[in-house]
Amino acid sequence: MARMNWETLERTCKSCQKCALADTRHNVVFGTGARNAEVMFIGEGPGENEDLQGEPFVGRAGKLLDDMLEVIDLDRRTNVYIANIVKCRPPQNRDPLNTEQDACIDYLRSQVALIRPKIIVCLGRVAAMRLIKEDFKITREHGQWFEKSGVWMTAILHPAAILRDPGKRPDTFEDLKKLQAKIREVCTHTH
Ligand code: URA
Ligand code: SF4
Repeated sequence: MARMNWETLERTCKSCQKCALADTRHNVVFGTGARNAEVMFIGEGPGENEDLQGEPFVGRAGKLLDDMLEVIDLDRRTNVYIANIVKCRPPQNRDPLNTEQDACIDYLRSQVALIRPKIIVCLGRVAAMRLIKEDFKITREHGQWFEKSGVWMTAILHPAAILRDPGKRPDTFEDLKKLQAKIREVCTHTH
């Protein structure tokens, strides 16, 4: 995709018909947060609440994500940017198909090119497999750091997975502390 400014990118994305998810969506969930953020959080795709409201992570998992951010002084309105691999809701919240991810990924790549984050945090397995490496194993490799073309990348468990299994909270707390340490190491205006 040609390099676009924010306005053109958002307008193009919000009228996109590149894959079949366009047929069942109520809203395109473009992304939200600070366009000068040094840290981006990437989920897999909108769920029901997100589809209805047009904003990422606004359901129960979203409330937990906000709480997780707060633990390390991050806030979706002021110092992070939150987006998804696919911008339209997969029916019944199934994983987005590879073909759908392929159709949509350039929007995310353009967002990353405009923001130029220092750190990208994948939320869950689907985003990690797409952005970090194809064979990413979330149970084993969450919290590990990978440097890819000058960007620090990691994955933490998806907040919806933590809601299903609260026993995963301590692991995630550890990962958040490591994220905080990385922010202090490589970011200049996040704190
Ligand atoms: N899960 C995701 O991966 N993304 C959202 O925006 C909401 C739930
Ligand atoms: Fe376009 Fe992405 Fe929505 Fe598919 S999911 S219609 S590629 S914006």
